[in-house]
Amino acid sequence: MKNVLFVASECSPFIKTGGLADVIGSLPQALKENKRIDVQVMLPLYDEILDEWKTKMDFYTSIRVPLGWRNQEAKIYTLTYNQITYYFISNDYYFSRKGVYGYYDDGERFVFFSRAVIEALNHLEQKPHILHAHDWQAGMAVALAKIIQPIKDLKTIFTIHNLKYQGIMPIETFHDFFQLPPEHIGGMEWHGMLNCLKSALFHADKITTVSPAYAEEIKDPYYGEGLDPILIERSADLVGILNGIDNKEYNPLTDPALPVKYRSSRARKTENKIILQEKLGLPVNGESPLYIMITRLDEQKGLHLVMHILDEFLQEDVQFILLGTGDEGFEAYFADMAHRYPEKVVSLLTFNEDLARQLYAAADFFIMPSKFEPCGLAQLIALQYKTVPIVRETGGLKDTVQPFNEITVEGNGFSFSNYNAHELLTVLRYSLTIYHNLELWAALNRNVNKSQFSWKNSAQEYMKLYDSLDVQYA
Ligand code: ADP
Repeated sequence: MKNVLFVASECSPFIKTGGLADVIGSLPQALKENKRIDVQVMLPLYDEILDEWKTKMDFYTSIRVPLGWRNQEAKIYTLTYNQITYYFISNDYYFSRKGVYGYYDDGERFVFFSRAVIEALNHLEQKPHILHAHDWQAGMAVALAKIIQPIKDLKTIFTIHNLKYQGIMPIETFHDFFQLPPEHIGGMEWHGMLNCLKSALFHADKITTVSPAYAEEIKDPYYGEGLDPILIERSADLVGILNGIDNKEYNPLTDPALPVKYRSSRARKTENKIILQEKLGLPVNGESPLYIMITRLDEQKGLHLVMHILDEFLQEDVQFILLGTGDEGFEAYFADMAHRYPEKVVSLLTFNEDLARQLYAAADFFIMPSKFEPCGLAQLIALQYKTVPIVRETGGLKDTVQPFNEITVEGNGFSFSNYNAHELLTVLRYSLTIYHNLELWAALNRNVNKSQFSWKNSAQEYMKLYDSLDVQYA
């Protein structure tokens, strides 16, 4: 039996701000189907985690976590859920705060978390053979696993879910956080700063990212977020494995959040649209094409393109709903659009999972014109709810959405190539003409119904990767 320990900063259903939580929540389940592997998961214990979960946790042990010259205490709790063991690392100073991220000392908080993970390894009954860390928040755990070696021959994998966020701090913090000889600075430093993500890229045995296209793109300066030189250097150990989604969790036939459940019936899907229109005060008309976005309001998501052309697109007979939170400028823009087009636009500036599911079910089109997209789960959830994705051809969007071709009637969505607002507008208008062409619309929907992005294949690829590491059994 191969033991793998996942280390991450979020995980559904306990705590979620984005796609990372979906992946950490569902990939261990998929891996477990393969009887040769056992996955456990280690997370911070945030205040934000609901009492419903906290009351189910058991105290496991207390540990001392050295952070430079200081020692911090951490308590470890465990919880078994769907036959997976989760460890939660608690420390009031770092994690008893509102929300998950966004503090001036986020870097220090997750260095502490990573250091605590390394310390916790000494106390685990089931020692991992492989430490599989995700994103910058867990990046230092990879570096420290190699440097401190709490477990001899522990192999490490680091998965990049988003290269943009790196956990960057002044280089002086190296001496604050670690009592390590200065020769380790080189592996943790990038452009004169301490960099958690770079530390992981430098030390990991293998590096993965969440789609094959993104694995290629990030070796280019346009997508490399300044780290392309080291990604090129490590390209022999870098692979892209596409994310799947948990199709039990996202299933329009069983989703309790949906007023009307459906498998692939367009008529029943439209009933969800009508109920949503009533609920949100839009003109009630099942035939009005409904375009939605469900997204973090971040520049990454191509919102500048949308801002450029939405006015123009709204001259068409369409409805548009946005569900998202984030950047204040984008929030103000969408609030203003809803104000100016009360008959066509609704802006829901909140994070609400049930509402998200109702939107995926109600919509005809899902717009996702990202500037870059490591994988993207939202377009996969949209497909699962039989909603046609309209995407920019980048990263995982390119790997999962094939543009509809009228001649061959192949393709499960619409896409455009350049980061250019008028290309987006052109493809939006084109989607509308297909919507109004009964025959082509039906053909497109058949392709959407056939799209499958379960974890099965991807889990097999992770298995292959784990097998490629020369794991030492005790
Ligand atoms: P990212 O991880 O970059 O945010 P993904 O597409 O990989 O993007 O994942 C986003 C996830 O977060 C999806 O499950 C999406 O439905 C969900 N999501 C984003 N914004 C909201 C929101 N405001 N309310 C509910 N769910 C949201």
